[in-house]
Amino acid sequence: MKALVKRTAGRGFVLDDVPTPKIRGDEVLIRVRRAGVCGTDVHIYEWDPWASGRCRPPFVVGHEFAGDVVEVGALVTDVRVGDRVTAEGHIVPELSYFSRTGQAHVDPQTRIIGVDRDGCFAEFIAMPARNVWHLDDAITYEVGGIHDPMGNAFHTTLTAPIPGSVVLITGCGPIGCFAAGIAHSAGASRVIAVDPNPKRRALARAMGANDAVAPDEAADAVGRASRGLGADVVLEMSGVPSAVHQAFALVRNGGNVQMLGIPSKPMELDLATEVIFKGVTIYGVVGRRMYDTWLQMTQFLRSGSFDPTPVITHRMPMEAFDEAMALIKGGDAGKIVFEIG
Ligand code: NAD
Ligand code: ZN
Repeated sequence: MKALVKRTAGRGFVLDDVPTPKIRGDEVLIRVRRAGVCGTDVHIYEWDPWASGRCRPPFVVGHEFAGDVVEVGALVTDVRVGDRVTAEGHIVPELSYFSRTGQAHVDPQTRIIGVDRDGCFAEFIAMPARNVWHLDDAITYEVGGIHDPMGNAFHTTLTAPIPGSVVLITGCGPIGCFAAGIAHSAGASRVIAVDPNPKRRALARAMGANDAVAPDEAADAVGRASRGLGADVVLEMSGVPSAVHQAFALVRNGGNVQMLGIPSKPMELDLATEVIFKGVTIYGVVGRRMYDTWLQMTQFLRSGSFDPTPVITHRMPMEAFDEAMALIKGGDAGKIVFEIG
């Protein structure tokens, strides 16, 4: 089959012919139709310190996808050939402490498709049947193919008290833009999105942000919306240190800061003034809760109150991977989707 492969420990990917995966008894084989391209793929493409410390080439890249089940293992009961599906890409031991106590998303033994094992930028992918998530008939493969980052946004947003809140979002990448739509749909009184990139601010506005402003305008916007109190909830979705400090500066005393963005290296925080004396509650976000986030996401899509499609700015074949990486690095894209099968 055709696949995008991280062939060696160095920069780039190779579009290659590789064997179609063989499935085990508890796995299913999925024909990939659409696959989302993500910042993580860029890290692996560039072979930055994070990627070279974690990944072991050769492997097939890509972790966001949707497609059709074409084969099921002998032990599989609830997934059938022909089912339209996406899947949770974090694979967790089924009987671990974390799996058994409802915290599978923070299991340290998690293996991620396209990072720690073969991924979905390919014609076919093998997945454990228990990771499969069925798509409603009304959900396109394209929207199915971005359930992973949308799920990050649902997890971050809906673990905070959103109804009636002034919500500040620092960082309007694809995940921040999804979060703007989710917060709006979940009943925030005002959604203020912050990003230095005007293209990204336009996407956040299209998704339902009431204000989309540059970082130096954020304090004014929050002050106006909250009568000077500060934001009730901040969703930190950039991983940029100055934005992290701004998140803690603009959250109100007693508010919530949801931390999704990943700083590229350790950073300082003045815990006494930024967190403790403000009485702030911090929530660290990893992936998606299995599977409450998935159910919430499906219900929001089913209700029609949340539409992620404005965030998808580019559709292209896998062959255009160099262009996709350049668009993401340049901040010129929202979400890019590979059209595969
Ligand atoms: P992205 O890199 O596309 O988005 C980050 C955005 O932050 C960009 O639009 C950038 O212009 C903006 N930004 C830069 N400086 C800023 C500032 N000072 N103030 C406000 N915004 C600023 O990324 P994404 O794919 O949307 O992901 C968002 C973050 O979440 C990234 O850090 C990513 O690594 C992280 N992430 C975390 C998880 C998790 O499980 N915790 C999962 C996926 C992604
Ligand atoms: Zn991703």
